[in-house]
Amino acid sequence: MKQWIGERLTALCGCPIGEADDRQVYAALLKLVRELSETKQQPVTGRKLYYISAEFLVGKLLSNNLINLGIYDETRQCLEENGKSLSELEELEPEPSLGNGGLGRLAACFLDSLATLNLPGDGIGLRYHCGLFRQDFRGGVQNETPDRWLTDDSWAQCTETVYPVTMGGKTYAARLYRLPVTGYHGRTNWLNLFDLDTVNEGLIGEGISFDQTKIEENLTLFLYPDDSQEAGRVLRIYQQYLMVSAGAQLILDECAARGCNFHDLDKYAAIQINDTHPSMVIPELIRLLEQRGVEFDEAVQIVTRTCAYTNHTILAEALEKWPRAYLEQVVPQLLPIIEELDTLARSRTEDASTAIVDEKGLVHMAHMDIHFTHSVNGVAALHTQILKDSELANFYALYPEKFNNKTNGITFRRWLLECNPALTQEIAQRIGTGFEQDAGQLERLLPLTEDEEALRRFAAIKAENKVRLADWLRQKQGVQINPQAMFAIQSKRLHEYKRQQLNLLYLIHQYFEIKAGHTPPVPLVSIFGAKAAPAYTIAKDIIHALLTLSQVVANDPETAPWLQIVFVENYNVTVAEKLIPACDLSEQISLASKEASGTGNMKFMLNGALTLGTMDGANVEIAQRVGMENIYIFGQSSEQVIHRYRQGDYCARQWYEADPNIRRAVDFITDEQMCALGHEESLKRLHDELVGKDWFQTLPDFNAYVVRKNQALADYACDSLGWSRKCLINIAKAGYFSSDRTIAEYNRDIWHLG
Ligand SMILES: *Cc1c(COP(=O)(O)O)cnc(C)c1O
Repeated sequence: MKQWIGERLTALCGCPIGEADDRQVYAALLKLVRELSETKQQPVTGRKLYYISAEFLVGKLLSNNLINLGIYDETRQCLEENGKSLSELEELEPEPSLGNGGLGRLAACFLDSLATLNLPGDGIGLRYHCGLFRQDFRGGVQNETPDRWLTDDSWAQCTETVYPVTMGGKTYAARLYRLPVTGYHGRTNWLNLFDLDTVNEGLIGEGISFDQTKIEENLTLFLYPDDSQEAGRVLRIYQQYLMVSAGAQLILDECAARGCNFHDLDKYAAIQINDTHPSMVIPELIRLLEQRGVEFDEAVQIVTRTCAYTNHTILAEALEKWPRAYLEQVVPQLLPIIEELDTLARSRTEDASTAIVDEKGLVHMAHMDIHFTHSVNGVAALHTQILKDSELANFYALYPEKFNNKTNGITFRRWLLECNPALTQEIAQRIGTGFEQDAGQLERLLPLTEDEEALRRFAAIKAENKVRLADWLRQKQGVQINPQAMFAIQSKRLHEYKRQQLNLLYLIHQYFEIKAGHTPPVPLVSIFGAKAAPAYTIAKDIIHALLTLSQVVANDPETAPWLQIVFVENYNVTVAEKLIPACDLSEQISLASKEASGTGNMKFMLNGALTLGTMDGANVEIAQRVGMENIYIFGQSSEQVIHRYRQGDYCARQWYEADPNIRRAVDFITDEQMCALGHEESLKRLHDELVGKDWFQTLPDFNAYVVRKNQALADYACDSLGWSRKCLINIAKAGYFSSDRTIAEYNRDIWHLG
């Protein structure tokens, strides 16, 4: 194999590997992977899945594909023998900027598992030119620049397939690009991404600003155009319609080519609507079926049987509602269909709260999804329960049979095999390699929790990963961190419900305690990675407060040895792969009931970190599996939180006034020292938000958080063997959170593929 790889690479480079430059070798590797991927395609005979999503946060693909194709070690050795380093070549690969956070990463993990399980399933999305922005910190604030990830040699290959899409009275040509999705010793599926040839990156001005009116030039420049202005909101509808119209045409073409007569579409296709961004695929498919001779009523039934919907949030503001006028402007051809669907929905119930078009003329995308798909799933047991009991209770009463849970998962190929080779090898030596495709086998590690030699070995791997992260941070951001310290990591999108501000208050509290001579049992390095949406002011204020506090703590010789705060720039999949294997304590501290599932929590657990978290999302299921003695749980329950919201009587100021520790921590945000280094306006806004509003109830959980986190520090410092035992139990119990399990359940209950 190694020899064959060497010969192919030499041929593709056009010269001996050792004489080619790194770019040439990278391009050759890309071609080699493509060739091999194409040999693993399989004909589709039965039903095929189309997973439509506005985001696919796939991460870098070279190593992942080499692993999945089973040639990683051989390729690395072959390159080494020719004086090339695979990890250096990987530095040349830009990370595709096609997603924002967990939603997009989930879609990517699902594609991996589909191909690995040999199921026919392709993704459908958009080929954003600059995706989400690139983040850096200047002067202690988030700065946004375009992330131009598309290069000459990109995984997304241009095709000759073009579909017409009419929007706002003009017809655009949506061109298909395709990326191969390799399965681990499995088949190759495809990620289909649409784009316009006319999109013009020259339109981008200062930062990530651009002319929002020139649709043919701006349509796929960025993921999630700023929706604080109307032009940005309308642009989102344009993007969504491009994706679903081109996607629906692709689906119908592929099915027709396999013999579908459109009346039997659901025998050929299953369509999963990932959150509400692709919801217009429902009326669009009805429209296209009518064009192909199917009557409206039958078209509605076919589409309902074909489509299924995944709900990802209970945050009301995150469930899309578009003014009818916007849809009238962009997709007038869909409006009569949406109105007929609204009439149909209203005929099924007296309950006007489930209508699609409300009395204000807002079109509720999620409502359309629930009425006109056959399956509605939540993404963790607690989340699904909350949907049934409160958020979607009216719909649950109407369609109990549609509701089901599919607890999220992650692909172990990327989040263990690729990102933590030392741990992977150790596990393989102990229990064999069966866990790579059958994650439940990790439980065979459990007997080792009584084996001190094994526990020390696992602890040593963690220690090495921490040194590696420290080296990387020094090179990348010029910060020195103490690898002997406990590493607590909170990396995820910046959002008030995820409560980075609670972590901020803890760090301030700890700063005061150290100043008062109460040093912790072990130094703490608190690491953050997070992007804030460009128009989300308070989120940016939280970043600014953390960056400012980090300086205050570092400048003080009394606190610097005990506490360090590091904010990693530009959090993305590549950064996550560095952070997660080096983590001791995984911060999953969202307000209970607000995090639908979380998947970061699963990645950290799999890599031997202990969770410090609330009983929220999949944390609940992690706690169930590892047992309460192997996780640090704190804070209000989801019932208490939901109750408090119902009562509407939460008053942050009362908590602030009643508790001197809370007051001390909150007030430090606008202390002289902070204002001297930071921006007073921003710090004051955050202070006032916490005292005057605190919509995500940070203050009631503050004391419990301090106690639990300090307990974790003490356990880590005083009983390292006990700590390692807990870590190993977490690894052993992580099998359930493999996306292979999740996908097998989707297939069993919803898709019935092949
Ligand atoms: C897994 C992942 C997420 C999701 O993290 P949560 O903690 O579940 O919000 C976000 N971004 C990246 C880059 C990830 O890899």
